[in-house]
Amino acid sequence: MSYNPVERHRKIESIVVQKRVGGDRKKYYRFRRDHWYGGIITADCAGCGLTCKFCWVRKESILEGRESGEWLSAEEVGQRFLKLMKEKKVYQGRISGGEPTIGRNHLFQVLNFFQHKRLRFILETNGILIGEDESYAQELAQYPFLHVRVSLKGCTASEFARLTGADPCGFHLQLDALRNLKKAGVSAHPAVMFSFSGREEMDQLYNTIWKIDPILHSEIEKEEVILYPHVVEKMKRAGLKYYSGHLPDKGGEGSGSRGRGKDVWPEGRAEDSEEGKRGKGEKGKREIARILERGARNAEPVPIPGEKAAETDHRPSIPGKDPKIRIKRGPVSSGLETTEAVRTED
Ligand code: SF4
Repeated sequence: MSYNPVERHRKIESIVVQKRVGGDRKKYYRFRRDHWYGGIITADCAGCGLTCKFCWVRKESILEGRESGEWLSAEEVGQRFLKLMKEKKVYQGRISGGEPTIGRNHLFQVLNFFQHKRLRFILETNGILIGEDESYAQELAQYPFLHVRVSLKGCTASEFARLTGADPCGFHLQLDALRNLKKAGVSAHPAVMFSFSGREEMDQLYNTIWKIDPILHSEIEKEEVILYPHVVEKMKRAGLKYYSGHLPDKGGEGSGSRGRGKDVWPEGRAEDSEEGKRGKGEKGKREIARILERGARNAEPVPIPGEKAAETDHRPSIPGKDPKIRIKRGPVSSGLETTEAVRTED
């Protein structure tokens, strides 16, 4: 039976956020450096209001907020970020693991901590709460060092429902998040989980995003499922077939396709073409830099790693046919470093 995604976010919030007069505390389970976006300090928070069947988070209990973690104030979160940033000489951060927009007051207190520190912050979100309340995007607009990555779960409302088990209205909230962010002038781009979509659905989504904003259309980031053994098992149990995916790289769990630049479909899929292969070099670096730069003009420059071209996509153009699986390897990193683990496994 499907669930209301907004209500579920609220319910999870009551589990992973403690209301406090001096500032709310939220549950976190890990701090680490990883290689996406050219190197970024990541705090993994507990709790998400969706239940994606391909989610890389190993334990349901983390997403449901039941797993033990550490209750941290915004100040404590900020201090841990700063300590790791100093140690690793990495000047950008993100909150991942669960849904960072759960616990709105706490998130804004974390962002306040980052104000005037010449750092970048990337908010990776499913967009449900930003789509539901326009004022969320308006408030985010106060932070010029912020870039928002809205991760769309599929290309259509029915695909969203199939992938998340939630009411299809959630897909429209994700699109509303992009609209609200654009209207508020927040630097943002859409990332789309394409692993389960046919060409027609992909086309449909590109058209929809074009109507929201042609610039967002040009900045669509193609996300693919990471084939960790537990994710493959999860999808098998859910009876979920995928068209494409990539093998986990040395970045470890939580590594995704973040910061890999844009795709130029439908004119020609950048990854498949010679242009696309070149784009993974210098051009790709410029694209990523441009996306980040829009929201963080005062930040320190960060190195952008080289990217490897993908193999040819054999995705069938007629929906309903058996999917052909395309597997590619992600970029090789220097390895995930969990230096300040609250919990080191999830
Ligand atoms: S993939 Fe993201 S939105 Fe989906 S359940 Fe996992 S953390 Fe939540």
